[in-house]
Amino acid sequence: MFKLFSFILIFVSILVPFQSAADKIVIAHRGASGYLPEHTLEAKAMAYGMGSHYIEQDVVMTKDDQLIVLHDITLDRTTDVSDQYPNRARDDGRYYSIDFTLEEIRGLKAGEGFRLVDGQKIQSYENRFPMGASSFSIPTLEEEIQLIQGLNASTGNNIGIYPEIKQPEFHRNEGKDISSAVVALLKKYGYTTKQDKVFLQTFSFAELEIIKNDILPAAGIELNLIQLVGSESSYPWMFEPSGMDILAELADGIGPEKGLVISRLSTENNLQITRLVERAHSAGLQVHPYTYRLDPGQVPGYAKSFEDLLYKHYFEADVDGLFTDFPDRAVKFLESSL
Ligand code: CA
Repeated sequence: MFKLFSFILIFVSILVPFQSAADKIVIAHRGASGYLPEHTLEAKAMAYGMGSHYIEQDVVMTKDDQLIVLHDITLDRTTDVSDQYPNRARDDGRYYSIDFTLEEIRGLKAGEGFRLVDGQKIQSYENRFPMGASSFSIPTLEEEIQLIQGLNASTGNNIGIYPEIKQPEFHRNEGKDISSAVVALLKKYGYTTKQDKVFLQTFSFAELEIIKNDILPAAGIELNLIQLVGSESSYPWMFEPSGMDILAELADGIGPEKGLVISRLSTENNLQITRLVERAHSAGLQVHPYTYRLDPGQVPGYAKSFEDLLYKHYFEADVDGLFTDFPDRAVKFLESSL
C-alpha cells in the first residue's frame, strides 16, 4: 500500500512538478535592463533590490582570456568603442571583445543599446534609460558574482546567478575554451552542486554535451544546465515527441523563445499552447522561456496586458520561470498570485 502511495506521489510530482506561484521564478534578463543599461552592475543591483530570484549574465572572453559580462561578442551596440578605437574593427566592420584586453574594455563607456541609422546612433528602446547619460562600464563575471554574493551576505537572501556561454564555437575557433573558464570560476565561488543557485545556459547543444560529459566531470562538480532554444529549425529533433526525453539525459531545463510555448499565431480567443512545456515536464525538465518586455509593441496581441502575458505563460502554459527585462513587474505579479 505504501509502495503504491509513493508511486502515485512520484507519478503526480512528475506530471505537475511546479504548480503554485511560490515555486515559480523570475530571472532578471541582463539585469533590470528595462530600467538601466543591460549588463551593468547598476542594472544587476537594481534587479537584486527588486526581488528577482536569479540574475542573468551573458559571458564572453577578452583577448587576455578574462571573462566579461556582455551580450554580444562585439562591443559595437552598447559601448563607445568605435569612437575610442576607430581602427580596431575587423573586416566586417565590427569590434570584437576578443580583440581587446580587459584593460582596454574597462576604459570603454557602456550604455543603453543602439543601432546605427545613416551613421546616427538611434537608441533601440526609446523609452528606456537615456543613451549616453551618466557613467557605466562592462564588469567582469567575477566582479558580478562578487556583487551578487556580497548582496546575499549583506541582505541574508540567497539570489542565484544564471550565466550564459555566448557563442562557444566562435570562442573555440579563436582558440579559447570559454566553458572551462566559466566552470572554473563558478567552482571558485562555491557553485559545485545542483543544489547551488546557478543555472548554466547555452544555445549550443554540442557545447552542452562537452560541458556535461567532459568539463564538469574534470572539475569534479555538478551544475544545473539549461539548453536554450531559439526556434524549431535550430534543433528539429527537440520538437519530436521523444526530444525532451533525449535532452533530459544532459540538461535540467530548457530556455525556449516564448513563441515556442504559446504560438505567435494565437489570438485573445484562440490561445495556442504548444506541447513543449508538457513534454519537458514529463521528461523532468524545467522550462524558463525568454524574453518578456513591456516596451511598446513587445506584448503579443493575444495578451491584454503585460500582466496578462505573464498569467498566460506562468499559469496557463505552466512555465517554471521566465526571463524578463522588468523583473519588478513579474515579482509583483507572482506575489499577487499567491
Ligand atoms: Ca542571454
